[in-house]
Amino acid sequence: MNRILIVEDEQHLAKGLCFNFEREGYQVEAVETAKDALERLMLNPVPFDVLVLDVMLPDKDGFTVMTELRQAGQLIPTLMLTARGHSADVLRGFEAGADDYLTKPFDLAILLARVRGLLRRREWLQNRAHPPAASGESLQFGTAGEKTVDFDSLELTVRDQVFRLTLMEANLLKYLIRHEGKPLSRKAMIGDVWGLDENTDTRPIDNFIVRLRRYIEDDPTRPRHLVTVRGVGYRFVSKPV
Ligand code: CA
Repeated sequence: MNRILIVEDEQHLAKGLCFNFEREGYQVEAVETAKDALERLMLNPVPFDVLVLDVMLPDKDGFTVMTELRQAGQLIPTLMLTARGHSADVLRGFEAGADDYLTKPFDLAILLARVRGLLRRREWLQNRAHPPAASGESLQFGTAGEKTVDFDSLELTVRDQVFRLTLMEANLLKYLIRHEGKPLSRKAMIGDVWGLDENTDTRPIDNFIVRLRRYIEDDPTRPRHLVTVRGVGYRFVSKPV
């Protein structure tokens, strides 16, 4: 049974969410403050599978919570609830490490679908449905194959350095590696990796690219793996010469 943590201070909304997630077969816990959320996820960790995090909370805002969680290495798949018409909030959410977002007020069916999407993508990422090997899937790249990304542990190893990726960082990297050599538009990435429609603001993609470059490039200011294709987007080069 998937466990979900809801962080939402509007009680009627939290109640409705609990009811509906429970009806869908989730085990649900709801808290109202950033402090309680951080406690549940960090001090006294319970293995939650998904986090639904509101931005407007009485103590700290959701971006701060997200940032603190990611900085502490808590990489739970997270959907943030942002206010309508604040596209800057979407950027801030992704930048803080959120995996997906939904603007309020939202359609409940869409929220349920997005949460299922996060869980599915996590399974797809970990290939639980079709495990290729007992050890799980990993992909290698780099001129001498010296860089490895493991999709079970979400760890990227670059020589002797290990980076922990968020779910969507890993998903994006997997997508890029699998489409190696092809120029990919931001819209294609946001559609194929996040499952968001083409009207979504694509600027968060660039923040993800900046982060991935920091991990995988020897010199992030002169990228050789994740190359900019002017007027299009990006192209992944597995073995730069
Ligand atoms: Ca709120």
